[in-house]
Amino acid sequence: MSIEGGKEITDERRGEGIYDILIRNMDELHKRDLIFGASVTVTTQNIREVTSDEFLKELADRGCKAVIYVEYVPVTDDSLELAPGDEERAYLNAWIEKRRQEHPEMVYVSFPGDEKASGGCEAAGRGFFHINSHGGAEPCPFSPYSDINVRDTSLKEALNSRLFTLLRENGYLLEDHAGGCVLYEKRSLVEALLAQETQPVVH
Ligand code: SF4
Repeated sequence: MSIEGGKEITDERRGEGIYDILIRNMDELHKRDLIFGASVTVTTQNIREVTSDEFLKELADRGCKAVIYVEYVPVTDDSLELAPGDEERAYLNAWIEKRRQEHPEMVYVSFPGDEKASGGCEAAGRGFFHINSHGGAEPCPFSPYSDINVRDTSLKEALNSRLFTLLRENGYLLEDHAGGCVLYEKRSLVEALLAQETQPVVH
């Protein structure tokens, strides 16, 4: 369930009435003894709210067993101020570590913060890929570029698309990063790779 904090901030980002629908759905799942997780986009605006005991207690009481904290990654320059910086990332990582020790009843994942510990970026089929609402296979939701559509091809073929293959085989995903998003930092390179449509993949 994608939730951004309390009612006000969730409805502001997701749309009027969404918070109440989420709560109803959580209660219904809980009633049926089904576990679920929450996905929280962390911005400079909601970081304190979504790491508050109050917010986590509410999720836990409703049956939530995992929380994935996804750092907001701007796709346009005018939303840059929402992206967590070094200070917010350090706070979030320290908070998650503490939370894991004190409340092991829930699983906490920080994305992409935890990628450093997993050996780098998992996009472009290295660990997963993303299919957008039009069927375009993208390296990751945070790298919204596509050269293949799963309406026209199999998942296996999508996994080996020209763009994904170039990203994986040239080591771009393994490059070190400060805890942000590798492919966002390299968006000009991804755009250039996409533009080289006719050039063969070099192994
Ligand atoms: S593209 Fe960015 S957010 Fe996506 S897996 Fe790679 S580093 Fe993480």
